[in-house]
Amino acid sequence: MNKQEPINNKQRLPLGPPPPEAGCCGETRATHKFIGRDWRIMGIPRKADSASDGVLHIPITPNGDLRLPEALKERWAITGDNELLLKETREGLMIWPAAPPLAKVYIEPTTACNYHCRTCVRNAWEEKTGFMAFETFKKLMADLENVKTLKEIAFWGIGEPLLHPDIIRMIKLAHDLGVKTELITNGALLDKDMAHNIILAGLDTLVASVDGVSSDTYAEIRCGGDFDKVTENIIGLQRAQWELNRSNPEVGIEFVIMQRNIDQLPKLWQTAFYLGASFIILSNVLPYTEDMKEEILYKQSARMDNDIHRSMWSPEVILPRIDMHSEYMAPIADLIYLTGRPKIGLKEHAASDEGHCPFIWQGSAAVSWTGDVSPCIALMHAYRCFVLEREKVIKPYLTGNVAREKITDIWNKEDFKAFRNRVRNFDFPPCIDCGGCDFADSNEEDCFGNPHPVCGDCLWARRVIVCP
Ligand code: SF4
Ligand code: SF4
Ligand code: SF4
Repeated sequence: MNKQEPINNKQRLPLGPPPPEAGCCGETRATHKFIGRDWRIMGIPRKADSASDGVLHIPITPNGDLRLPEALKERWAITGDNELLLKETREGLMIWPAAPPLAKVYIEPTTACNYHCRTCVRNAWEEKTGFMAFETFKKLMADLENVKTLKEIAFWGIGEPLLHPDIIRMIKLAHDLGVKTELITNGALLDKDMAHNIILAGLDTLVASVDGVSSDTYAEIRCGGDFDKVTENIIGLQRAQWELNRSNPEVGIEFVIMQRNIDQLPKLWQTAFYLGASFIILSNVLPYTEDMKEEILYKQSARMDNDIHRSMWSPEVILPRIDMHSEYMAPIADLIYLTGRPKIGLKEHAASDEGHCPFIWQGSAAVSWTGDVSPCIALMHAYRCFVLEREKVIKPYLTGNVAREKITDIWNKEDFKAFRNRVRNFDFPPCIDCGGCDFADSNEEDCFGNPHPVCGDCLWARRVIVCP
């Protein structure tokens, strides 16, 4: 079980920015002996003190077979029906299941929302708004109870989850499964009562979508939103944690970068610190309406083929760690722009070199408010969007309904398995790079003859759109 332990409030004090160096001025140096920081007090253990660095030592039998621990086999569904993939890399062997088991379930409590963001897919669909029936949710939890491979439940889809009247009961039931729980919210409804209830229900992670760090920019993007109110609410959540002597949930910020808010990034760290956020996720915008088309920041980079064919015309640029000063970054940005081939960590381990779908590789299923199951957030609904300049119609891919079927039965349907296999191998043509025929107008077919849904145009698979 993933129970939250009450903590000593002193443990929650954020480290914050490094204090001014002891002895940073001559006078101080003359009068104080600098004894260095005690890193252990600051929570940084010596390597030898760490219980585990995540690396397992696997015994090998005399005839060369690997002996995997039973718990590991159970967690990753390593059974007679599955296969392991092994890849030789410069640094050793990487191993992973050929068919990742069901590990994460996204649940969309509702498609209703109290905001009208410019960036929202709800501007480009005609679906009706609704709330997941609590009976459907309870059945889903009961069906997930014995899924040993399940690691996480995320309350996230299209819509504001805190609007669901049963959201606290939902979080509690998910938490009781002993898996990590996560919720993505615009934060407007996170008042004092909601904050207390969320904490007591055991939520592990709360991601607040904040696309601006000034009231004006925020209100311009998140129409109907009040930046001050949201920040006040998130600070209230910290206060509630202190009152209840609890450390959950960890708070993170999601920020969708675009032309009109990119200048706010230098201030984002300050906002994140103020809100007690321990991580920041930057994503790009996927335009759903004409007026958002010019907002994108990836006209060139989306086309960078992940399978880097380096050549004298387009040499691969391998970047070292470097201080992120604008005076250093500008020349690097120029170099990357001219060569078009930065080596950035798009993916290291996938079997295919073309695209890497995070949903499929982490073993996800997404359940909409109607109970319909899709492989990812992108295929849950019918909508229109713009992939670079091209308008595209997305037809949803629904593989079953949890109100009528067990999620494990849906997961094991042959056509769903075949689709996941296709995405893992990323056997799709590179429509993002090509965009040259009518097939690219929708996700229904492609020039390889793949059936619906086709993923060659998917911006998630190119890590242009990033999800929590
Ligand atoms: S908060 Fe989310 S669901 Fe609501 S309008 Fe904005 S983007 Fe859409
Ligand atoms: S590649 Fe894109 S559309 Fe296809 S399953 Fe993954 S996220 Fe969904
Ligand atoms: S389906 Fe059309 S747009 Fe996509 S790669 Fe093939 S020819 Fe190009």
